Parts: sequence; structure tokens; C-alpha cells
Amino acid sequence: MLVNASEMLKKAKAGHYAVGQFNINNLEWTKAILLTAQENNSPVILGVSEGAGKYMAGYKTVVGMVKGMMEELNITVPVALHLDHGSYDGCLKCVEAGFTSIMFDGSHYPIEENVAKTKELVKICAEHGMSLEAEVGSIGGEEDGVVGMGECADPQECKMVADLGIDFLAAGIGNIHGKYPANWQGLSFETLDAIQQLTGDMPLVLHGGTGIPADMIKKAISLGVSKINVNTECQLAFADATRKYIEEGKDQQGKGYDPRKLLAPGFEAIKATVKEKMELFGSVGKA
Ligand SMILES: [Zn+2]
Repeated sequence: MLVNASEMLKKAKAGHYAVGQFNINNLEWTKAILLTAQENNSPVILGVSEGAGKYMAGYKTVVGMVKGMMEELNITVPVALHLDHGSYDGCLKCVEAGFTSIMFDGSHYPIEENVAKTKELVKICAEHGMSLEAEVGSIGGEEDGVVGMGECADPQECKMVADLGIDFLAAGIGNIHGKYPANWQGLSFETLDAIQQLTGDMPLVLHGGTGIPADMIKKAISLGVSKINVNTECQLAFADATRKYIEEGKDQQGKGYDPRKLLAPGFEAIKATVKEKMELFGSVGKA
């Protein structure tokens, strides 16, 4: 069932588990994630970055693909279709296209402007029955040349944004996007605890879920994280499996060049990664 992410994350916060957001890039990604959610009776959030939306020929194409696939594959677990790190204009486009959830990333604006734009989107999302994620304190990544400790959000600013009527909040707690560098200092549980103290029932979001050790993930969930974003890990699993297939020369045996055969190992690798994460996050059986 295509729903917004508000209810599933409220339940996750109350039940001390987290729902995974898995970013999609194409049909194989989408099918692998939807089937794995159904097989494990888990709620799931399909994340779409602006770049991936463009790659998949626009948000309307994405909505059509996801809706059609859910019907044809009999997907009955709760699924949210969510814009990841949206600009203000990108958010408006996804509202129009039929997404059920959006993230407005206003973290690069001064806090006053982030607040003003977030307020506008709170109104628009309410009118459309959509859920809204906001971000405080930017979450770095390899592509930004950030090494070592990621940024930590100011808990008071988190409280200010949480009170605007958003549904869940992403806050930097030393997490970063992409692969973690060897000298990474780990998550700041002190910051997370301070944010959770001030924001109460608000589900918190952990971006950059790839490569965070399992014990840190579990501790973050115990401190109020109810949504964890996974993107790079599926990409690495897909690339590794595809590389192996080619290196073993399987594309040159029989009809091994058929895309349905060539992409199958990568598809299975995404499924295995998603299942592993759902087990770690505790969302299995929670649909
Ligand atoms: Zn992110």
C-alpha cells in the first residue's frame, strides 16, 4: 500500500525499531526492495534523490513505475515514496507527481530561511496528506571532501524545526554520506541524546547508514532513531555481484549477455543487503 511515512515511523519510534529508507535507481532496484519488504513483512521507504529522479526520466515516471509494480507484484506492506534531499522546487514537483513523502533539505540555508521554507512545505504536505522530513545541521560526505567527524546539529535548532509541524527530523550526529573514512570518530550519542530529550516523540532520521557498525546502529535506535537511510551499500553490493559475473566470463556463455541474466546477480545482491538491514533495524514482521 502506497502511504505516507508518518504512521509507520510513529509506530517504529514507539516500538523501538527503525524503518529503512532504501534509495532506488531503476526498475531492478525498485523491484528488489519491494519484494524484500513483502517477503519480510516489513514497512519500507523508497528514497529518490533529485539526481536519481532525473535519471529515471522524471518523478512522474517513478510514480507510475512504483504504483504499477506494487499492483502487479501484490505488495501489501506499507510503502512510502519519498524524495531524498529535495530542494524547495524539487519538493513541489514531487507533490504534483504523486509522491507520498518528501524531505526538504534546507540545511545549507541560514536557520531563519530553512524555517520559513519548511513552514510553507508543512502547509502543502498537510493539504496533500504527505509526510515531511526536515534537516538540521548538514550531513557531509566523501564527495564534499569531508573526512573524520561529520557535523553535529545544534539541539536547540532541532527543537525549533521539530516544532514546525514536520513528521520526522534528520539531524547530523557525526554521520556522513558514502563510505566512512578510516579515521571516522563514530556517531555522537551525546548529541543524539540531547536532540531526543528536546524533541520528544519526533522520529529521528539517520542518514549515511552505509558502514556504520551494527552496535552503533542499535544504540542510535535506542536513542530515538526510527528511520535509517541506506544507499551506497546497495550500490556496492550490486557492483560487486555484477563485476563477479563479468569477470567469470558468464556474459560470454550461452545467452549470458541477456540483461535479465546479466543484472540478476546484482538484483539478488540488493535483496540480500536490504534483508540484512531490515533484520538489523528490527522492522521485520512490523508491517
Ligand atoms: Zn542523506
